[in-house]
Amino acid sequence: MKLGILGGGQLGRMLALAAHPLGIETLVIDPKERCPAGDVTEHVSAAYDDPAAIARLAEFADVVTYEFENVPVATTEALAKHAPVRPTVSALAMSSDRLTEKRALNALGVETAPFVAVDDEASLKAAVAELGLPSILKTRRFGYDGKGQWLLREPSDVAAVGPIDRPMILEGFVPFRRELSVIGVRAVDGTFDAYPLPDNRHESGVLVASRAPAEVDANTTARAHEIARLLAEDLDYVGVFAVELFDTPGGLVANEVAPRVHNSGHWTIEGAETSQFENHVRAVMGLPLGSCAARGVCEMRNFLGEMPPTEAILAVPGAHLHDYAKAPKPGRKIAHVTVTAEDEATLDARLAKLP
Ligand code: AMP
Repeated sequence: MKLGILGGGQLGRMLALAAHPLGIETLVIDPKERCPAGDVTEHVSAAYDDPAAIARLAEFADVVTYEFENVPVATTEALAKHAPVRPTVSALAMSSDRLTEKRALNALGVETAPFVAVDDEASLKAAVAELGLPSILKTRRFGYDGKGQWLLREPSDVAAVGPIDRPMILEGFVPFRRELSVIGVRAVDGTFDAYPLPDNRHESGVLVASRAPAEVDANTTARAHEIARLLAEDLDYVGVFAVELFDTPGGLVANEVAPRVHNSGHWTIEGAETSQFENHVRAVMGLPLGSCAARGVCEMRNFLGEMPPTEAILAVPGAHLHDYAKAPKPGRKIAHVTVTAEDEATLDARLAKLP
């Protein structure tokens, strides 16, 4: 069986690495000349809308998937004439715009931050009047890792925004206790499963650590899994996806949907029976899913921009390093480590030893 992957970053690399033990060949398209996935599988360096690259992938693949949500919809539509594209093109379209995403969540009875569409200065003023401050102005499309968003605390922040040159959305600020996420997976036959929830720490809008399983009550896990299942069934979704959640005194509030494997699921490589990458491959290839159960406790930490020496990381008991072989650049996710343990106290002691 052969799997075509659009996008050759670290997610594409870890998908390819998970496919190979199952005897599944992979081919990645990524515009970069050298990309993390290109070290571990065949890589076609071309734009995502390059007709020759699309033809090559269409000829190669039994199934096509992708590692990021901003793949041109026209490309997935062209590929879908030759091989199943999983998840569906409609799932991709829904989550590529924060406005349609929030409307879809609300239609399923899933709470989100209050929001108002912003298209110009006048609608920004009206939106601020409606939602109050603080609130967060975000681009509707192509935002990730806190990019394309502005926290508006006071009226002077609103005045400083400047001209609105793209479709935006204003979101009321959600006073959350902590950030969780749910990683769900749905098979071709509709079988659904989800992982125990990770507890995610962000700095400047970027994920820095996920601890799993989070200490949450059974109701919270049940609701998070229900949110994921409702969404997956509504979209007839196939594959792994993530819903970022705010844990608030009033219950779970959904922030964002990622129709792909997700950074807050990297802990599953060593911390769960079946990793999110393997389960995505299993799901899209029409294979039975593997167990999402946790194995002990763990914490995943991202290395942004630079990383300590490999020797120092690997000297920590239970440390599992994933170096994406990327050129270091400030803020860039270049590697992650997951430290595993059998209990919380041992995990804390091990984490304290991380350089
Ligand atoms: P996002 O790009 O939407 O995932 O946002 C990045 C981070 O900004 C989130 O992980 C939160 O820490 C914070 N954030 C985003 N939206 C809100 C909101 N409506 N209220 C409070 N914090 C938010």
